Amino acid sequence: MKWLNKYMQGRAGGDHFSIFLLLTSIVITLAGRITGISMIELLSYIPLIYGVYRMFSKNIQQRRMENYKFMMKISPLYKRFHRFLTRVRPSKTHKLMPCTACKSMLRFPRNKGKIKITCPNCKAQFVRKT
Ligand SMILES: [Zn+2]
Repeated sequence: MKWLNKYMQGRAGGDHFSIFLLLTSIVITLAGRITGISMIELLSYIPLIYGVYRMFSKNIQQRRMENYKFMMKISPLYKRFHRFLTRVRPSKTHKLMPCTACKSMLRFPRNKGKIKITCPNCKAQFVRKT
């Protein structure tokens, strides 16, 4: 593996954008296989070749700029996904429950006994055991 380390020195290597390109290539390949249209499979080489080119590129500054632009574009999606995960994944310290009046989801601490909750949305107050 020493030769690989030496070879990759001064090259951009894998970043989020390269990984995205490789995954896109895989998805396009699968779509081509499922539909049986070989033209679609040929298209999968475009993101694959570009992704590999980016990894071995020596113009690190340019590759970093591309990755930065890519991250700026997907960050709203990433935030949404993260918010979705925090809602779905059970937490040990907090609990999610709908407001009794407006049904908006409220987050409050677990194991605090009976607490009085004020909804930040509709200002309704109710008591819950946590
Ligand atoms: Zn409410």
